[in-house]
Amino acid sequence: MPIRHSTKKVFSKVAWHAYNIHRKGPFYRSKLSKTTKLFNAPRETILQFQRERLKQLIQHTVQTTPYYRDLFKDFGLKQNDLFQQINADSIDISQILPLEKQTVRKQLENLCSELFPTYQRIENATGGSTGTPLKFYQDRSYWNQRNLSVYYFDQWAGWDFGEPQLVIWGALADVNGNDNWKQNLNRYWRNQHWLNGFHLTDSAMHATFKMMQRQQPTTILAYPSSLYQFAKFISDNNLTPQWKTKGVISSAEMLHPHYRSLAETVFETKIYNRYGGREVGLIAMECSKGRMHINCRDIYLEVDSPNPYTIPGDLLVTQLNNYTMPFIRYRIGDIGRLSDEMCPCGNQLPVLGELLGRSTATFRSKTKTLIHGGYFTQQFYNLAGVTQFQLIQETLEKCILKLVVNEQWKVETSNHIVQKIQDALGTEVSVKIEFVDEIPLPKSGKREFTISKVT
Ligand SMILES: [Zn+2]
Repeated sequence: MPIRHSTKKVFSKVAWHAYNIHRKGPFYRSKLSKTTKLFNAPRETILQFQRERLKQLIQHTVQTTPYYRDLFKDFGLKQNDLFQQINADSIDISQILPLEKQTVRKQLENLCSELFPTYQRIENATGGSTGTPLKFYQDRSYWNQRNLSVYYFDQWAGWDFGEPQLVIWGALADVNGNDNWKQNLNRYWRNQHWLNGFHLTDSAMHATFKMMQRQQPTTILAYPSSLYQFAKFISDNNLTPQWKTKGVISSAEMLHPHYRSLAETVFETKIYNRYGGREVGLIAMECSKGRMHINCRDIYLEVDSPNPYTIPGDLLVTQLNNYTMPFIRYRIGDIGRLSDEMCPCGNQLPVLGELLGRSTATFRSKTKTLIHGGYFTQQFYNLAGVTQFQLIQETLEKCILKLVVNEQWKVETSNHIVQKIQDALGTEVSVKIEFVDEIPLPKSGKREFTISKVT
């Protein structure tokens, strides 16, 4: 490694250290090692820790948030009964109504704890892949805990403080041409190099590739769709990365199998899927054996299903650290299933058996079968003639397929695609093809290949 790389690494490591002391106090190192110890502990230890955190949170929430106080009254539940249960260690939160996104929208103030003054709230919002962004509040303690978990799990993919990282992420400021010195400074001391996922032109990708040959990033953090585009650019132009990537962290969108296989081939490394949401932080992380481990230190995860281990259902997330605005049994909008497996990687955190992705991208057939959107995207992979596509399930009987085609497009291809869609949804389903010039990105920057309006 050239001398300037190791100097930069040492500098960045020291900067990380200073940043963490500033944010988390002088004892952050011991907090970090405690976090690591807990995540590596036997399953029963971590589940006991989780139960304690859950009890504290429920007690806090019921006593200090107007929304939950009223909810308990409306349902005739008595706080005392709940507290007795809590003391008896037999708490069952399934009696609490799941928290829906529209409730967060309508009851924002009532969901906040009266214990926290408004100046301690940190405002945040989701990108709003369905159109309207969702506003909510977090606190400093939530962010500190969230970061400790991210540090721990990113190390599974080979990341460490000070290591150079390529970040392929949507950054609106860059698109608007606002050169933000604060942002640039942050990236510099973190030893991060950015490729803007909202602006992936050939020249930007070529410049980034050349810069990476010099900067030698050891990990990549990316939106999977942007990662795929960058990998495809490298492969189409017969370029060979002259740097050794330890691992790639894929986050914020569905990681489709064809994204994974191309990126793993091009970067000659494993992709680690990191699953989370802005509302609640990191929910699960993929390990070296390809299982998604649940972040039980910060999250209590349920599946809204008659049998959470065999029948996939809506994921309900309880965030254990955000006391300023508790998220309890929050319907995050993804579908999954639990598993009782003990993972062969050695880590004993419980495993998320299956993550089917956005419930809005999961199709339903007349026979009530759930079909993962990935089934449809796979049909288009390597299909000559199609540049872009989007499949929308309007009703149980009707789908619209938007296509951007190129000169290799043949009429027979459309018959083939319709056949594949009908194989999954039923032969009686009509598929209307619309040829368009472009399928615009939604505001969130996350490309949606499949959208189901059937719930
Ligand atoms: Zn594992």
